Amino acid sequence: MQRRVAVLGSTGSIGRQALEVIDGNPGLLLHSIVCGSSSDVLSMQRKRFQPSFSEVTSGMVAARVFAEAMEGADVVLNAIVGSPGLEASLIAQSRGKLLALANKESLVIGGELLKPHLNAGMIIPVDSEHSTIFRCIQGESRPVRKIVLTASGGSLRDLPPASIALASVEQVLRHPTWNMGGRITVDSATLVNKAFEVLEARALFPGVPVSAVIHRPSIVHSLVECADGAWKALMGFPDMKIPISWALLYPDLPTEALVMEDPTQWGTLSFEKLDPARYPAFGAVLDAGETGGTAPAAANAADEVAVAAFLSGRIPFGAIALVIRETLDSFESRPADSFLAVCEADSIARERARKAVDRICLQQFP
Ligand code: MG
Repeated sequence: MQRRVAVLGSTGSIGRQALEVIDGNPGLLLHSIVCGSSSDVLSMQRKRFQPSFSEVTSGMVAARVFAEAMEGADVVLNAIVGSPGLEASLIAQSRGKLLALANKESLVIGGELLKPHLNAGMIIPVDSEHSTIFRCIQGESRPVRKIVLTASGGSLRDLPPASIALASVEQVLRHPTWNMGGRITVDSATLVNKAFEVLEARALFPGVPVSAVIHRPSIVHSLVECADGAWKALMGFPDMKIPISWALLYPDLPTEALVMEDPTQWGTLSFEKLDPARYPAFGAVLDAGETGGTAPAAANAADEVAVAAFLSGRIPFGAIALVIRETLDSFESRPADSFLAVCEADSIARERARKAVDRICLQQFP
């Protein structure tokens, strides 16, 4: 029997790769696609796959469309970009659908709300680091003592510290290993993405300490230390199609390798301490995680606003961390116990972040 897959966010980077995975796997069938805007990619997907449901949606009506797309699907891939993805994850939970989760915001801002689905084992991570940890822990009888996420260090990793704050959009978008969308590439350069991943890992694997190290080659996709001191890792050339196919086929495994690996091509597998002074936004987001409640939602909203302002040339790269810090400093965290509470935090933080951006703009170009 083929597994019917609903792909939410089908025209984004993960969505497009997911369709390639489905195309190459006879066990998978594309059931439905949803995306945020109409495009040539969408028309191509419709023609090529002829899914039984496809729709462009955003805003208030999105919830109804997500629910319709999930109807009759065996697994839902949530590859929506940003905080709107949480709503889709909550609908998957309420419909009892197995959730292949590429939208990390869902767990960063709504980890509390998704606990029932998590505890029921219905969330399979697609993020490469979390997919790795998930695989390392599966079938492992030894307790896990530590989780270490690997970070490439982003596009600015070799820039002298003094030049980072004024890095250009072009410099920032040149990621050394992964080819991804705009916001996530900026989030890799600030390491905000890694901070979100730390929070995501804490939600997925509660009770295990999580930290991050810089690992330039991106061959080791994260590490797990077992109680007896043995370390486990998954290695290979970075290719998002691997975690995507694992999640879509779960609990089965792909029968063929996507790439044949030659370890002599991997070079030196080095690990370096993450220098917090180089990545001030990383610390700001982790602090929001410590505060808990709706603070991570505020951090996420502030980052979205700051990254958009940077990409449009309104603020320098170094101001992204400033906007996040400033937003969080004046933010009063509440329990993140309802979707409404999370949305409210999001809009309050967005407003404050916009003010911070305006202020920085004025200072820059008075
Ligand atoms: Mg990742």
